[in-house]
Amino acid sequence: MPLTESQKKCQSEWREKQRRDNHEWWKEYRGKIETSYAMRNPLKRKAKDALNHMIRWGKMKRGVCLVCGDSSVEAHHSDYSKPYNVYWLCRTHHKGIHSAKNRLDRVGQDLPH
Ligand SMILES: [Zn+2]
Ligand SMILES: [Zn+2]
Repeated sequence: MPLTESQKKCQSEWREKQRRDNHEWWKEYRGKIETSYAMRNPLKRKAKDALNHMIRWGKMKRGVCLVCGDSSVEAHHSDYSKPYNVYWLCRTHHKGIHSAKNRLDRVGQDLPH
């Protein structure tokens, strides 16, 4: 069934509105991501640099994965303001801890305060 002229007009107006709303929403959303990223990131980088330094100078040693004992590990910071306070985790378990943490953060937001 073909649309009448007024229905067509209505539809395109609606689409235009949707597009505008999405755009506004996206702008706001992206702004939020960027600010939180910028706020977290310098500390994260500093912590990693500091730790790498210690390892290069032989002041600290890489451990083995806390979960499976794999010796190819990455440092996991539970607090970036304490660069030497790290857990050693293999790539798989490191990813695991981050996705678990993300999920917990999301659940936490839904809980009443
Ligand atoms: Zn592991
Ligand atoms: Zn980590």
